Amino acid sequence: MSEELKKKLASLRETYLRQLPEKIEHLEDCWNRILNGYNENDLKDLHRLAHSIAGSSSSFGYTEIGRTARSLESVFKNLIGKNRDIDDTIRAEVNSYISLIKEYELSVATVGEGTNSPLLRGVQGCVSPLLMEGDEGEGERYFRTKDKKLIFIAEDDQLLLNSLELQIRHFGYDVKAFSDLEEMEKALKEITPSAIISDVVFPEGNLAGIETIEKIKKENDRHLPVIFMSIRNDIHTRLQAARAGGIAYILKPINITSLIDKLDILTTYREIEPYRILIVDDEIELGNYHSMVLENAGMKTKIVNDPLHVFEPMIEFSPDLILMDIYMPACNGHELAKAIRQMEAFFSIPIVFLSSEANIDKQITAMSMGGDYFLTKPVEPEHLISSVAIRAERMRVIRSFMVKDSLTGLLNHTNTKESLDISVEQAKRKNGNLAFAMIDIDRFKSINDTYGHPAGDRVILSLSRLLQQRLRKTDIVGRYGGEEFAVILIDTDEQTATKVMDEIRSSFAQIKHQSGEKDFYVTFSCGIATFPLFADATNLCNAADRALYEAKHGGRNRIVTAAE
Ligand code: GH3
Ligand code: MG
Ligand code: MG
Repeated sequence: MSEELKKKLASLRETYLRQLPEKIEHLEDCWNRILNGYNENDLKDLHRLAHSIAGSSSSFGYTEIGRTARSLESVFKNLIGKNRDIDDTIRAEVNSYISLIKEYELSVATVGEGTNSPLLRGVQGCVSPLLMEGDEGEGERYFRTKDKKLIFIAEDDQLLLNSLELQIRHFGYDVKAFSDLEEMEKALKEITPSAIISDVVFPEGNLAGIETIEKIKKENDRHLPVIFMSIRNDIHTRLQAARAGGIAYILKPINITSLIDKLDILTTYREIEPYRILIVDDEIELGNYHSMVLENAGMKTKIVNDPLHVFEPMIEFSPDLILMDIYMPACNGHELAKAIRQMEAFFSIPIVFLSSEANIDKQITAMSMGGDYFLTKPVEPEHLISSVAIRAERMRVIRSFMVKDSLTGLLNHTNTKESLDISVEQAKRKNGNLAFAMIDIDRFKSINDTYGHPAGDRVILSLSRLLQQRLRKTDIVGRYGGEEFAVILIDTDEQTATKVMDEIRSSFAQIKHQSGEKDFYVTFSCGIATFPLFADATNLCNAADRALYEAKHGGRNRIVTAAE
């Protein structure tokens, strides 16, 4: 965070704090009027006031005030429309909330804005989402997302816990907060969250957070992405966290933006696609058995019994991980792993070797050949599932960050789709919009046929450069297939998207391509679909695809926008 932003934040917080007593007074007045006689309008005012204090206080880091005001808000909400006088229980409840708020306000005001205010601890180092987005009223938007994903947080520091809970909620997640590990374990028996964020050090021990997660993961084979957070930065703790299946390890103080980025990626995955595991084993029954175990745990598998036929499914099935037997006829696992890794696209694919080889030296040889892990047959189903899932998950995360198409340097098909999923989630949360455009070069086959494949490649490159030049940094450009591209225009409405894409279309049509002595021109067709008209990634893809089809049939070299 820049110094200037920090200053601005601090001064905003100060201003807010100065105005708070007046807001509380206003709320009290309103409440006293209601005690003298029910009035629907006063009640609505009260609800709104409590709501506004709740949202703004927590955004400014006054967590306790925020929480108390939130409770107050829900009491008032329940009263609206009931048209009944306030009974003693409610009166007492509301009075106690109001005096709590006043107490907190007083303590914050006297301790001051200094760094030692305990209420500030939880928000150190992070920018409140509301402050980033604009005025406090916008906080409301974050609460409207329909299908919220559930996140568990375990943290024994109550203040940090509250603050994290609030902040993560702001980003549209549902949160269950636990200050006690046992409580979380109990809750996990009832419900599976989309992700867990856990502290490492608890009163029970210096690694209690990690140990508990490890135990939970062992006890059942549900997919539970876990992010550990800690002040401990030593290799020992980090290793333990990785062994327990932690997907990420973040240091305190927590940078909320990067935490949310990780949550977005992890939880979006969960709903996109099961892990794809390629099983290479010459023993048919064994291959089938392992496939069954993994499919049962929700993964997709493909079995190859002949190691010499491994390359085709590598490309078509695009596995996240390969489970490979070592002793096979024709070629052994070591050689095969080496050959696979020689292909650039599979350079980093995790390979898990499966063998009855118990000899440690041979295991080490296997790993030095590019194997990631070694499992000894017979392998316990739970062990198989967790070893495979952990590594496949890691592969997904790595891919989502970096896999690019080798010709153009653009995102490839898988990553473009995943980016679309994530962008749609983000647009939903912000009540924003976006446009998804699919582009297909016209009559490309005949260009290849006439001018040769290398000339065709250059055309693909020129379009990819044009797209990158003309679109904003925040937009996402992917190579969707051979001569097909996909573009995600963030925060863009239909009209703007159509205009931008049509400008690019017209520019592209004017580029003079050369092959030997001959010049030629190329055009493309484009189909656009927009969010929220199409409410999710699948619908956007289908609609854009249909629009593209229409553009082709309407004569090519044109843009068609999908109507509902
Ligand atoms: P349409 O206007 O209907 O899209 O016609 P088209 O010829 O472009 O459509 P089609 O999908 O039949 O052909 C696409 C061709 O693109 C086929 C394929 O050989 C070629 N192609 C795919 N990827 C590449 C590539 O990376 N480089 C080159 N040079 N050609 C490619
Ligand atoms: Mg095509
Ligand atoms: Mg084409």
